[in-house]
Amino acid sequence: MSKNALIKGKPVADKISESLIEEIAKSNINPKLSIIRVGEKPDDLSYERGALNRCTKIGIEVEVVVLDENVSQDEYISKLHSLNEDESVDGILCFRPLPKHLDENIIKYEISVKKDVDSFNPLNLAKVVENDQTGFAPCTPTAVVEILKHYGVELKGKNITVVGRSLVVGKPVSMLLLNENATVTICHSKTEDLQDVCRKADIVVAAIGKAKMLDESYVGDGAVVVDVGINVDDEGNLCGDVDTERVLDKVSMITPVPGGVGSVTTSILAKHVLKAYRLKY
Ligand code: NAP
Repeated sequence: MSKNALIKGKPVADKISESLIEEIAKSNINPKLSIIRVGEKPDDLSYERGALNRCTKIGIEVEVVVLDENVSQDEYISKLHSLNEDESVDGILCFRPLPKHLDENIIKYEISVKKDVDSFNPLNLAKVVENDQTGFAPCTPTAVVEILKHYGVELKGKNITVVGRSLVVGKPVSMLLLNENATVTICHSKTEDLQDVCRKADIVVAAIGKAKMLDESYVGDGAVVVDVGINVDDEGNLCGDVDTERVLDKVSMITPVPGGVGSVTTSILAKHVLKAYRLKY
């Protein structure tokens, strides 16, 4: 297979953005996203730049609330409550993971379910499980499904192997794909004969966090691969969980890293802010 097998995120993100720009202009509305960031973590700052850029171009106002890295749990929750109550704020994004002294298991219940645009509150994750469209699925798993749909990949009845079972990616993406009527197998670090389970799949979704772990021995001929991983390789370059060069000849399609799933995530975030705006009325 040639490099044409690379399915990039940009066309998907652009298409979503264009439809949001049109919808916002047509309705003459001004949705607003508030981001809560604690400290100056490079990952948070990088995502924030992407979100600011994407949302501003679309016509969504973004306010970043920066809290000191020693912020107390009470102060964090009090800020969250004030954003919950602020009628000018439609969506709230809490950068995670939170610093260790803040208890995510308590804080996640404090964000308004209706403003929770990246599915922090377990009630929104429950709605993903229930296939209840009134909730918010997390942005990265939603981006995976959007990419597959954009490139015309049939999901119904297909065998999909998801490697990874985190609450952030693996589990929700598995549920979203199940909701699309795929037959989903969820794998993790205790899975036996992972290569065999992956090789039998029509579609492999990798959400592991191990640089280039999946090579050609993990993919069947003509498989579609979505690489969610964001890692740094031995040379210091950004790479995914899949060894793209080694699988390119075997797969029918694969998302690159960078330039794949990550580039669609902020447009899903923007879509969710608009949905939150609509939910208000
Ligand atoms: P995580 O919480 O560390 O979960 C990793 C999962 O991979 C776990 O379920 C783990 O199994 C499994 N795993 C680890 N080693 C394995 C092995 N050798 N064989 C099979 N399974 C194995 O990571 P995450 O938050 O889900 O993130 C996964 C990757 O996606 C990371 O690279 C992260 O940076 C990236 N990510 C990308 C985006 C984006 O926008 N593109 C967003 C979020 C995350 P156990 O459960 O058994 O430990």
